[in-house]
Amino acid sequence: MLKREEKFAQVIIPSPLKEPLTYAIPPLMQGDLKIGMRVSVPLGQRRVTGVVMGFLTETSLNQVREILALLDERPILDHSLLQLIRWVSQYYLAPLGEVLTTLLPASLRTENQRVIYSCPGEFPQARGLERKILDELQEKGGKSTLKSLARRIQGGGLYRALNRLLAMGAVEAKERTKGQRKKIAELIGKRESLPQERALFSLTAEQQQSLDLIQQRLSKGGFETFLLYGVTGSGKTEVYLRTMEQVQKAHKRSLILLPEISLTPQLLDRVEERFPGRVGVLHSALTPSERWAQWWHILSGNVDVVVGARSAIFAPVPDLGLIVVDEEHDPSYKQDDGLRYHARDLAVVRGKLVGCPVILGSATPAIESFENCRQGRYRLIELTERVEQRALPSVELVDLRQVQKEKFKIQNSKFITLFSPPLIEALQQNFVRGYQSLIFLNRRGFANFLQCRLCGFVLRCVHCSVAMTFHLKQQSVFCHHCGARKPARDLCPECGNLSLSGIGFGTEQVEQELRGLIPGARIARMDRDTTSKRGSQERLIRQWEKGEIDILVGTQMITKGHDVTGVTLVGAILADLSLNLPDFRAVERTFQLLSQVAGRAGRGKEAGRVIIQTYAPDHYAFPNIITHDYKAFFASEIEFRRDLNYPPFSRLAHLRLEGPRAQEVEAKARMVGEELRARRQREPKFQEQIEILGPAPSPIEKLRSRYRWQILLKGKKSRPLLELASQAREILPGSRSTRLYIDVDPYNML
Ligand code: ADP
Ligand code: ZN
Repeated sequence: MLKREEKFAQVIIPSPLKEPLTYAIPPLMQGDLKIGMRVSVPLGQRRVTGVVMGFLTETSLNQVREILALLDERPILDHSLLQLIRWVSQYYLAPLGEVLTTLLPASLRTENQRVIYSCPGEFPQARGLERKILDELQEKGGKSTLKSLARRIQGGGLYRALNRLLAMGAVEAKERTKGQRKKIAELIGKRESLPQERALFSLTAEQQQSLDLIQQRLSKGGFETFLLYGVTGSGKTEVYLRTMEQVQKAHKRSLILLPEISLTPQLLDRVEERFPGRVGVLHSALTPSERWAQWWHILSGNVDVVVGARSAIFAPVPDLGLIVVDEEHDPSYKQDDGLRYHARDLAVVRGKLVGCPVILGSATPAIESFENCRQGRYRLIELTERVEQRALPSVELVDLRQVQKEKFKIQNSKFITLFSPPLIEALQQNFVRGYQSLIFLNRRGFANFLQCRLCGFVLRCVHCSVAMTFHLKQQSVFCHHCGARKPARDLCPECGNLSLSGIGFGTEQVEQELRGLIPGARIARMDRDTTSKRGSQERLIRQWEKGEIDILVGTQMITKGHDVTGVTLVGAILADLSLNLPDFRAVERTFQLLSQVAGRAGRGKEAGRVIIQTYAPDHYAFPNIITHDYKAFFASEIEFRRDLNYPPFSRLAHLRLEGPRAQEVEAKARMVGEELRARRQREPKFQEQIEILGPAPSPIEKLRSRYRWQILLKGKKSRPLLELASQAREILPGSRSTRLYIDVDPYNML
């Protein structure tokens, strides 16, 4: 609450300013203004919307402008969210205003109109100022914008009076952005959900134990992070749902994050079935006005459960009692442009700030998370068996080197490149028996790139330093990084011969071959090309769930948590793709992808079978994938991380310089590198703690016509690391042409 002597407000506005700005509070507003409310403030010649972060009794500034208007009756950001904003800004070295921009739906950041409506009925208890407001409304035909009310009712106390009227049901307040007249109820709409089988089963002993452990923490109160490590199909979701029911009973609310909601409509169905009419949803596929409506709906406390993707970690949930992060290992929780935050890590931070338990769930936990259990920071809960004693699928490897040798021996054999004989046989059998199969390849398109067979020329993107991928259906080549498109021709632009041909393959080619191999099967493909239209992805998944597709080919999209009982066969066309990425997490990622896609098989009465094709069957990741032994995998992977001093044994900050002129970017990168090294020399704490790698050209040297160089800082502790990283910003001040991006705890260093 504002004290009498606090005459100034600190306001964050959506801008790249690092610190909040100070404004004077007009005396009339004094009684109404609270931390976390939006205000309209002057900035230069403009009027902008900001959020009040704090109050000051004095300021050393000699010119302070006044707040123009108060835009809310109640705070829209509570204390813990404001603390989270500060934390994010400090940890990810991002300006407060940028954090705010990421967090608030766009329409909340522009000047909105609050409209106050009077409600039918007599309200004799409304006196004084309250009565005056009701009279004003009456005069205006029952409604008025907040702005004009404020103009007509002077003397302060307006907002407090409005709050009392809201509480007694005498008025209603609605937010209206420009051109937005739809009601919240309309915008929230109704999803079409498949009826779910009622969960009539009793919990397994392991599920019950997990629930009890979390329940103990809930009733004691306070923060604790649980890592729910449960094999695929062990019933983790059921544990989340029952915990969320407990939270609801205690009149608190839950927030559950999913990697990509559109990929798991089934999970949303399950939540909606358990909490009918009490679920809020936040994800990137919402239109701006839907997003805005959901946000108000959640803020007003109208839902008990919020389901959302990455950015929902900032949802304004009142009385938050639980945060769940499903598939916590999923890389999509890390945002890798704009504000580069990790939603799983923020879940833990938010849980701590709020003082509530956090559940991170996965069948293949991130190495960092499992290590946190070993260090005693998280509490490990295990579900070691699938529900109803279902077996985990059997996993076999096919050595593609061997397959190729055989093929060379047999002259005139039918030319099949992508499917090995065991996989073909298994697919045919599975189809005949009426079961569903999944075929996984983490690369889309038809041919990986086009190359001239006579001169060796490779068709590249003019904007990016990568080859363009050939897509058969569109008869075009595409850059998978910037989206550039060109019609595909056979003519080599270099030597002029009709000699360009496709090298390598992607899901489109896999699908085409499959049609030839299994005639009569209903085959569909799910990747970014087939799901770009709004709703198309959900349609595909629904068909898959209903058994209307026999074989589904797809990228990592198909590996995520679907629970479809008809799936008994999973094939991975080329496991080596992710294994060979230039990234220290490549092996972990491969283990996760293959274990997750394998986990889609055998969820019904019938056992599942998984066939993985690879040129590297001796790789150390495979034995543990075959035996579903995460812990053994962890044990070997953690040693590799320790030897090379990678996270979780160190922290990384990735600095990237980008600009339109190659030479300038390189020169600036060298300058920043030298200066950072010099500072490291000077400061003992940097010298002991921090390693500087680079500068070097980024693996993708040119992207969207911008040249890229990088410097990697590796440190034992985050504090000195962040300090040195933020000094890079001082070293390269406001350069227009070459920009510096800092990514703390990076996932994508290409
Ligand atoms: P996970 O998230 O661990 O992969 P799910 O929670 O999706 O597993 O559970 C897999 C399936 O088993 C779901 O269809 C779910 O309804 C069902 N299930 C969950 N718990 C039980 C149980 N105790 N007994 C029988 N079936 C269960
Ligand atoms: Zn490109």
